Amino acid sequence: MSTEGSAVDTLTIEEAAAELERLAKEIAHHDALYHGKDQPEISDADYDALKRRNDALEARFPELIREDSPSRHVGAAPSVTFSPVVHARPMLSLDNTFSQEDVQDFVAGVYRFLGRLPDQSIAFTAEPKIDGLSMSIRYENGRLVTAATRGDGTTGENVTANIRTIAEIPNELPKGVPAVVEIRGEVYMAKSDFLALNRQMEAEGKQTYVNPRNTAAGSLRQLDAKVTASRKLKFFAYAWGEMAEMPADTQFGMVQTFKDWGFPVNPLMKRLNSVADILAHYDEIGLERPDLDYDIDGVVYKVDSLELQQRLGFRSRSPRWATAHKFPAEQAFTEVEKIEIQVGRTGALTPVARLKPITVGGVVVTNATLHNEDYIKGIGNSGERIRPEEHDIREGDTVIVQRAGDVIPQILDVVMEKRAADARSYEFPKTCPVCGSHAVREVNEKTGKTDSVRRCTGGFICRAQATEHLKHFVSRNAFDIEGLGSKQVDFFFENEDPSLQIRTAPEIFTLEKRQQDSLTKLENIDGFGKVSVGKLYAAINERRSIALHRFIYALGIRHVGETTAKLLARSYGTYEAFATAMKEAAPLSGEAWTDLNAIEGIGEVVARAMVEFYKEPRNVEVIGRLLDEVTPAEAEQPVTAGSPVAGKTVVFTGSLEKFTRDEAKARAESLGAKVAGSVSKKTDIVVAGPGAGSKLDKARELGVQTMDEDEWLALISG
Ligand SMILES: [Zn+2]
Repeated sequence: MSTEGSAVDTLTIEEAAAELERLAKEIAHHDALYHGKDQPEISDADYDALKRRNDALEARFPELIREDSPSRHVGAAPSVTFSPVVHARPMLSLDNTFSQEDVQDFVAGVYRFLGRLPDQSIAFTAEPKIDGLSMSIRYENGRLVTAATRGDGTTGENVTANIRTIAEIPNELPKGVPAVVEIRGEVYMAKSDFLALNRQMEAEGKQTYVNPRNTAAGSLRQLDAKVTASRKLKFFAYAWGEMAEMPADTQFGMVQTFKDWGFPVNPLMKRLNSVADILAHYDEIGLERPDLDYDIDGVVYKVDSLELQQRLGFRSRSPRWATAHKFPAEQAFTEVEKIEIQVGRTGALTPVARLKPITVGGVVVTNATLHNEDYIKGIGNSGERIRPEEHDIREGDTVIVQRAGDVIPQILDVVMEKRAADARSYEFPKTCPVCGSHAVREVNEKTGKTDSVRRCTGGFICRAQATEHLKHFVSRNAFDIEGLGSKQVDFFFENEDPSLQIRTAPEIFTLEKRQQDSLTKLENIDGFGKVSVGKLYAAINERRSIALHRFIYALGIRHVGETTAKLLARSYGTYEAFATAMKEAAPLSGEAWTDLNAIEGIGEVVARAMVEFYKEPRNVEVIGRLLDEVTPAEAEQPVTAGSPVAGKTVVFTGSLEKFTRDEAKARAESLGAKVAGSVSKKTDIVVAGPGAGSKLDKARELGVQTMDEDEWLALISG
């Protein structure tokens, strides 16, 4: 049995041994992905959690520490592509700390180890932890001779040719440097260069990169150094390996020397004397993070005196004189540059925060949804406060963003201390930013509640709604027309040439014909070409007959999603029957209205939306033109030949004893019956269990056949 998640001190020695074995394998697997192939499977936070679990188990059961324990080595073995380089001094990794208490413990541990009293002050350096690739660069007699990755800490990969292409790394050092110098630091890709590269990839229709670190890793491990050169990698020096002579006696002094030798060093490095100052600097760096043009994932603290570093020495795998204080992996501060409004297919005005790009949970985040105007004010969907009073989100605000898993990034809160004196509350537009029509918050007739969504009332005159409608129409679960994506829809929509313009769905199907007589040929337009135009026409023509549920879904009726569309298709069978019923249901009463509401899974809100849709003459006109081009197929009925209930409408009422309501329904449907929620003239059979009430009465009144559960069972098994 897995013991994962059990408290360490409740485990038996056998359980601990088994879990350590599993952890060793799992961590080795993730190390290989992280250091070798550059595409991690889990977040850094999850990885750290595995490592901490391993450490905790080993601390409790030191006798169980394995030969292949993750605590004994750092990272993955080098790959075969690059020749190995044995580091003159191993490249070790730092212990991580995650909380203020951890940092206090670290500092207290240093004092204790050295036998110092708190008033015998020890200086520490504090600097951002760059989220890049560690590198060791060796100079002999002032000339760059080798550059190697960290690899497993002992042996790295020889990437000298690629490192030479990085402009920030000198090939030669000034006269008078020690005979052997090994500079260690981090190779990284600037955020601005990363974003520019992704824009270029996007323009070329290629897959974009996930984050700067993986991209830097991939760029560095190119066999062709020219590719590396094109990626504009950068470097920060912060440590050293073998040194023939020591040019300084403090950490801070060493890094300043590297700067004098021509290496870039991080300007945020400080020398500090107390835990309070260290933690204050951590907070400052955290707030400055979005403005930095490079990713960082924490702050590194080191004992400044090299003599004290020497005395403190190492634990099995990491120095006692340093620690990396990590930022929470799924959260970061950043700045709201702008609040923009997007108008959707149903006219909903959705505010989006444009953020200063920041890497959160391993992914670069540039936008966060703000949902609606109440959310901006800090009010939830039920009117409850989700952020303190006055913590409304404003342009220019510094905010805490959270990204967990694949969820769209959220803004958790505003950092009030960073709010500019002239920051103004966001004024949510009362008109549609696209078409200028009034935008309103509807009031639910039943509950009297005001909708949290503000909608454009422009309908068809609203370009945003019209293009979103088209995009919905061609989307995967609707007409699924390949070659007609979002970009192409915008192109055809905006085009003023009558042989190219597509403003409503039927025009998609007349495009080829209109093109035949036109001099403005699509194939001559940038981004199309003869082959792709041919493919586009083929894809369009392939959809001239289409499943009924796809057709209904594609109409884009509010509240009618895929599931509802399938229910409707099954219930009505043909488009004609469906459309006729919608028109007959217009008065919101009568048989057609009752039948519609009787369909299991269709509520009144949905029913109303459909009827409203068919009341709009413009919709009827567009569908009319569409039906000239497209034939919706009859809804597929399950193969039920011979079943006595196929095609019958059945209502279950009262309590069933032989099966659940869901089971009864599924069984009936599998035999080709339609299951309805209420009784009407169209009902064929009412199956009544004990306690059946008004539905049974109504069935008798209408002369509908009724039976009990046993009779029903006999019927369907007969
Ligand atoms: Zn509009």
